[in-house]
Order: sequence, then structure tokens, then C-alpha cells
Amino acid sequence: MRKLLLTSSALLFASAAAFAAVTEEDIANDQTITTQVVTNGMGRHQQRFSPLAGINKENVKNLVPAWSFSMGGEKQRGQETQPLIYDGVMYVTGSYSRMYAIDVKTGEELWQYDARLPEGILPCCDVINRGGAIYGDKIYFGTLDARIVALDLKTGDVVWRDKIADYKAGYSYTAAPLIVNGLVITGNSGGEFGIVGEVQARDAETGDLVWTRPVIEGHMGTLNGEESTMTGTLNATWPGDLWKTGGGATWLGGTYDADTDTLVFGAGNPAPWNSWLRGAGEPTEGNTGDNLYAASRIGIDPANGEIKWHFQTTPREGWDFDGVNEVVPFVDAEGNKRYGTADRNGFFYVLNREDGAFVSATPFVRDISWAEGIDENGRPIYNEGNRPGNPADAADGGKGEVVFSVPSFLGGKNWMPMAHSPETGLFYVPSNEWGMDIWNEPVSYKEGAAYLGSGFTIKPLFEDYIGSLKAIDPNTGETKWEYKNDAPLWGGVMATGGGLVFTGTPEGYLKAFDADTGEELWKFQTGSGIVGQPVTWEQDGEQFVAVASGWGGAVPLWGGEVAKKVNFLNQGGSIWVFKLPKLN
Ligand code: CA
Repeated sequence: MRKLLLTSSALLFASAAAFAAVTEEDIANDQTITTQVVTNGMGRHQQRFSPLAGINKENVKNLVPAWSFSMGGEKQRGQETQPLIYDGVMYVTGSYSRMYAIDVKTGEELWQYDARLPEGILPCCDVINRGGAIYGDKIYFGTLDARIVALDLKTGDVVWRDKIADYKAGYSYTAAPLIVNGLVITGNSGGEFGIVGEVQARDAETGDLVWTRPVIEGHMGTLNGEESTMTGTLNATWPGDLWKTGGGATWLGGTYDADTDTLVFGAGNPAPWNSWLRGAGEPTEGNTGDNLYAASRIGIDPANGEIKWHFQTTPREGWDFDGVNEVVPFVDAEGNKRYGTADRNGFFYVLNREDGAFVSATPFVRDISWAEGIDENGRPIYNEGNRPGNPADAADGGKGEVVFSVPSFLGGKNWMPMAHSPETGLFYVPSNEWGMDIWNEPVSYKEGAAYLGSGFTIKPLFEDYIGSLKAIDPNTGETKWEYKNDAPLWGGVMATGGGLVFTGTPEGYLKAFDADTGEELWKFQTGSGIVGQPVTWEQDGEQFVAVASGWGGAVPLWGGEVAKKVNFLNQGGSIWVFKLPKLN
């Protein structure tokens, strides 16, 4: 039980405290303390695995709703949140930077916080939020105007609030924060506006900034208010001044690998999308044109924000293959400590946890066109004919050559988190099979304006499906089973000790699959599309499953011909909680 994990000194004060507060130990053990979910990813390794087996392959067919909660209002947009559970209360974030505290037994609202957002916010991909983080007696979440706010767990009152970056320059914030050793650690969003990706750490109690680490080479980090070190080497991989507006948004937040004491954050696309403007032609002497550390995974020391290692999935990236996808620590079949990450570029990578070194990469979607494969150093073997053409080569200097690339810029996998079961050893990856016409155009940077230099139209590849949930063996890269879905999958996945895999569909179903075979064992229609992240926990001896329902996110906004295929789906905004019927 949670309270038994309190240190002896904390126990002295336990009787005086009004209620239990979440400790570093609670957070470190979130995966195994089954009465709570206080972290994004159901544990800082983000395996999204619960050992709970009360709901299992045999009885999941009996799962029924316990309650449902409406997020209300007119603000029914994509609900990508992951619920948190602590001390009998569920905390969920909603679209437009709202948060709700709900009694888990009754579904009754305890408090609601609505961030007052200014006019002129610039979220690229719907007004979503992906969840909060609990530490001490506070809950933390980011708002669309690029702020981080700490709320009192019991009342929802603001304890502190701080600016991550300037929303007028295109910055926003949607990811769940990460708590490590008393620090609240955040990324930023805005990669389509020529912002600079950064990771920041604040004192959780006071909100004071401790360190910052920009992720584009040439920018200076800070530690305790002083300049610390430069990221990378100025102009080693970026031509001219382009690094100043180089993108690399750290928009999906990060993982904390406790075994190596490393924060792992992904950095998104380099800006602008048009790779010819960033030196993508012949590399010049002393400048590789790789555009570090965009489209990379970066290992960071949580104590001071120094970069320990990096691994770039798509050097001189030119298709918006943001390298932000979550990095999940796991142990492979031979007992090696590894990271698994399914990149937007369509390849599933295995990396070494000590130094981020490349181990293997295999395609997890069909018909990848931009690369022939990944070489022994982890670098793509480019199909140069599939790089969108240079506008400078066009007769009129306008639109460059159009190419059809797979995957589309929304990726073989986008933000929606995969799950890993240590029991089956498999990763459960929510993927999409689609391509795009893409071309480059001239562009120049203007603060607060889109900075792409590209145009695109997404198209399905196959008539009968776009979404594909795949069970991938990280030891071989082999797909053990696949569930195909008509609409693109855009929600998170969860695996359980009951041998189940849960995920939702844009068509509105929360579904449970056999983790070994992929057989669909249960589904429930929630009334709107699911793009949220399921969780499970136990309360008074019963296991519960919860997910947010509410269609939205990037697909209806950016999905081209795919958006037309899903425009019949209704918006929504509700939390659904399920359990097995009581037999007494
Ligand atoms: Ca992007």
C-alpha cells in the first residue's frame, strides 16, 4: 500500500498531514503500486503496463460502465488525455487547457480549473492536452499559451504558474509534465513556427527555473540562472543562421530511465520543412547538413540538463518525421537493457540504454518509400528520388518537384503512445498506413507565422484500413499480430497482467485484445471517437479501466483525403470508467 512506502521521517508527520502526499518513491514505483496512476505512461518508463489481472482474457467480455463524466461546455475538441488516479480521486485534463478532479467511486466532480487562454494562441494540431503529473500535494499541467501551472490537489487552486515560452512566437504546450527528484520537467510545442525546442526543469515546490536545455546546436543552456553549456557545436550541422529558428520541438514530453538516471526526450522536425534550405544538398566542408539535434532522441542528465548522448533517426529530415516518439526502457530476451521507440519515419528502433547507441531498426509499416532501410550505424539509406524537390530547381523558382512519400507526415506512428508488456515481451504499437504527395516551396521566417516551405496531401494506401495496431517483437522486429482499423488510430495503448491490450478507435470503440493472439475480446461504444489514453487501477479490491472519449486531434485538421473519410465522426468530451459486475 502507498502509505507503507513513506519514509520514517514522513511517518512522524503523517498524522498531522491533512492527507497523503505523493513522494518520489510513489512516482518511482507507479507501475507496481496498482492503487494509483500518478505519472504519464503509468510509470516513468512509460511501458503503459499494469500487472493487474482481475480483468483478464476470460472475464473481459463482462466489462460494463461504472460511470461516465461529461467535460461539458462548447469546447468539445480532441480529448487526448491520460487520467491520473490518487487517493480516491481521478484527475483529467480536457481540451482548451481544462482540468477536472472527479470522485472515482461516484463520478461526481470535485473541482474544475479552466485556464484563461489569451487570444492568438497558435496550437498546430487541435486544442488538446495529454495529461498532468502529481507530486506532493500538487498537480501540474501545461496550457496552450505555453505555461506550466501547479494546482492544489484538494482544491484546484493555483499554487504557482510560470511561462515556458512566448505563445506569440508560436510556442504552445500540450504534453504531460515529468517529475524527477523534485523537478517538474517540460518540453515545448511549435515546430511548425520556427521555434526552438527546449527542455526545462523547475523546482516543483516553488516553480523556480533550475535548468534549460535547448535542443538545436548553437543555443546556450542555463543552470541556476547562469549560462551553462552550448548545445552541440555551432554550425557543425546547420548552415548560416538557420539554427536560430531551427525547430526541434520537444512536444511529446519525455521518459525517465531510473536505471541509468537519464531523461530521454525526442526533438521534432527541423524548421523549415523544406530540407534544401537547411543544407540538404551536397554537404559542405565542415557542415554535414544533418541539422542536429532535430529529429533525434536525446539523453539528458536530470541534475543539470547536460546532454549525455543523442541518436538522430532522420538526419537532414525533409518529410516532417518528428523524432519525438516516446522512448520506452525494456529488457530484451537476452536480458540486455534496451530502449524501444517506434519512429514517425516508419522504423522501430532498439537502442542501448547506457549511451543511446543504435542496436537495430525494422520497418513497422508497409511500403516505406523515403529510405531503403537503416544501415549498421543507424543511419537511413535514403531513396534520394523520394526527397521532395528543390524549389530552386523549378523553372519559375516556385513549387519544387512533387513526390509521393510513405509514411505521410502524420507518421507511421504519431504521438499516440505504444505499450510494452514485460510478460509477453512485445510492444503494442498504434500505427497508420498512409502516404502523401509532398512538395517544397520558398519560405522565409516571420515570428508567429507558419514556417514550412512545404505543401502536402495525405492519401490512404489501402482501401480497407489505415489504422493498424501491431504486436512487435523487439528482439526480431517481427510483427506477431495485427489489428486493422478503417480510420487512422490516434489513441494510446495499454497492456495488462490479465493478458490484455486496450486501445480506442476514432469510430468510438474502446477495445480489448488478447495480448498473445490479437483476438478482439471486448468492445464498447463511447459515443465519440477515442484519441485518449486508457489507464487501469484498483480501488477497494476492484479493477477499473478508464479512457477519455472525444474525437479530434491532427487528423481532421491535416488529414487531406483521409480527413474526408472521417468527417462523419462526432465530437465529444467525456470520461468512461469500466469494471466487472459485482456478483453479490
Ligand atoms: Ca512537426
